[in-house]
Amino acid sequence: MTPVNIILLGPPGVGKSTQAALLSKRYPLVTLSTGNILRAEVAAGTPLGLEAQAAIDSGGLVGDEVMIALVRSRMATLPAECGYILDGFPRTTAQATGLDRMLRELHRPLTAVLQPLLEREEVVRRMSSRRECRTCNAPVTVKPEAPCPACPACGGALFQRPDDTPAVILKRVAVYEEQTAPLAAYYQRAGLLAPVDARGQPADVAARLITAIELQRLQRRAEPVRRQRALGL
Ligand code: ATP
Ligand code: MG
Repeated sequence: MTPVNIILLGPPGVGKSTQAALLSKRYPLVTLSTGNILRAEVAAGTPLGLEAQAAIDSGGLVGDEVMIALVRSRMATLPAECGYILDGFPRTTAQATGLDRMLRELHRPLTAVLQPLLEREEVVRRMSSRRECRTCNAPVTVKPEAPCPACPACGGALFQRPDDTPAVILKRVAVYEEQTAPLAAYYQRAGLLAPVDARGQPADVAARLITAIELQRLQRRAEPVRRQRALGL
């Protein structure tokens, strides 16, 4: 089976990490979440973590060069039979063109760019009620009135991300709309964009994403034939 190679392109809080976890149960793939990688660097106090912290805390972006190098080093060590999901990358046009180049060099072409779509109010609501597991990084939704539960996946302690406060959330959404949302048109032109309704239960959203992936896979498979026909071969 050809590996499934995915970008999840959507605003903060739309459910990208939740969906990445569900998709990785369905396909043999590795999730590269740049947010999780950076948070681990911050927690470990590495030079990259120290550099990234200010950008993360303010809701801004870490520099493109750093991010491209970070993804490249991980992409280069993926087993050949394994696909990938990029969660949180690319976020700028420079990152998208850097990614194109690296994927060509590493022979890991994209299957699809999935774009989960959700109203802004629901995005903000999901973000304010989410916590993350300190042990396994799983995103967990909590009810505002309930006491803080343990992680349902591993029993680990939950925490609220410091950048999930209302002011920083608004900044992140604004940065997304200005710098990242234009990438939808970029991938639309490349014939890779698959918009998907992200309302409802995670399992229902995952089912829609899987349908979109399978459709894109069929298209990718038909592409060489179409190209040959166009050339009259
Ligand atoms: P989500 O709500 O799905 O977790 P998010 O976009 O709010 O998404 P993360 O993807 O977890 O948050 O990223 C957290 C922070 O890390 C970002 O606000 C940004 O400062 C930094 N970051 C993560 N990925 C990138 C990237 N590709 N380029 C630049 N900065 C990044
Ligand atoms: Mg996330």
